[in-house]
Amino acid sequence: MDNTTLVARRMRAIPRGVATATSVYAQRAENAEIWDVEGKRYIDFAGGIAVLNVGHRHPKVMEAVRRQLEAFTHTAFQVMAYEPYIELAEKLNALAPVEGDAKTIFFTTGAEATENAVKIARAATGRPGVIAFVGGFHGRTLLSSALTGKVKPYKKGLGPFPPEIYHLPLPSETTGITVADTLKALNFLFAADIEPERVAAFIIEPVQGEGGFHTPDPELFKALETLREQHGILIIADEVQSGFGRTGKLFGIELQSVKPDLLCIAKSLAGGFPLSGVIGRAAVMDAIEPGGLGGTYAGSPIAVAAALAVLDIIKEENLLERANAMGQRVRAAISVLSARNDTVGIARLRGPGAMIAFDVVDDAGLPDPVTAKAVITRALAEGLLVLTCGPEGAGIRILTPLTASDELLDEGLAILGKALVREEAIA
Ligand code: PMP
Repeated sequence: MDNTTLVARRMRAIPRGVATATSVYAQRAENAEIWDVEGKRYIDFAGGIAVLNVGHRHPKVMEAVRRQLEAFTHTAFQVMAYEPYIELAEKLNALAPVEGDAKTIFFTTGAEATENAVKIARAATGRPGVIAFVGGFHGRTLLSSALTGKVKPYKKGLGPFPPEIYHLPLPSETTGITVADTLKALNFLFAADIEPERVAAFIIEPVQGEGGFHTPDPELFKALETLREQHGILIIADEVQSGFGRTGKLFGIELQSVKPDLLCIAKSLAGGFPLSGVIGRAAVMDAIEPGGLGGTYAGSPIAVAAALAVLDIIKEENLLERANAMGQRVRAAISVLSARNDTVGIARLRGPGAMIAFDVVDDAGLPDPVTAKAVITRALAEGLLVLTCGPEGAGIRILTPLTASDELLDEGLAILGKALVREEAIA
């Protein structure tokens, strides 16, 4: 089977709403490499959108899954529970940066994690309002789309959305919005739309993922902490993209001084198997009565087995340190490229640990999504899989598995370097 035939079959059989970044089709994958159906090899700087911090098919993940497959594949936790689910919850409760005792519940997708965090926050506070941030991404279900701070393509024509969701501009160096600007907008929100006593929670990504790898100003997190003290508004950290070692910490929020009330986890939690969860302060987590939380596949035993292996791998292979070392190597390579005069405009190299992105800009320094797209297309042709991000899609984000060797990383960076050379310079 060739890629062209599969593109044609896909166009006929599958709606265009699920867009695919590439027109090549996967055959097999190992650690940080993927081969397509035509046998072409790609270095993977996308990690299945931040899912593969421990790489494709890590031997320990595969072994844990194989063992679980031999025992049982599904019972539904709500019907007959199983020990590995409890063990994973216990481990995460001990690791998560929440104040006091923690509890954890598992789901399947990131969107379910953010939806359920909102349900839990509403039940715990008895309040309806949720404040999210412009550019944030929290999923594609109806409530999580409402939380997502980007209209095109996530919300366009899809409303009405669940009410009582509000957005504030996100302060960051990249956008030039200050914490004072955000707090001013919050005061307008409190004056015009909802009083603070009716707000259940803020939901924020410790590092905005889809939005462009922007780390909010630390002062924002301090301000949220003050607002929690003043008004009892909970803080939900959406760690779906920033979690499990990517930032050099197990959770991205550990880079900030604040301890969230709830954390949404998914993606790299289970090394390629569908698992998500909400970790939170025990008293908050217990707010919903029995039956109010769950899901048929939520906390699948196979995915839970994979996640237990992932936690071991992160520790045994020192992946938090590795994320920092990898990030430094990526930064150094991109810095060299940005100083050259034959590359496209490269600006705003950013992100903690190995959660690195930069913008492709035009001669005026403005985001240039057309050129960014051309760069990733050239990279793909040369055997590198890499994704864009950011409000205009002009950011290039690097999500290489933390288990990739320096040799493979350098090989990928060399391809990226080649793809960043201006077309006129090639001709
Ligand atoms: N939150 C964040 C921060 C995400 O990056 C994503 C996925 N990109 C989601 C939530 C939604 O996760 P899922 O696609 O698994 O529903």
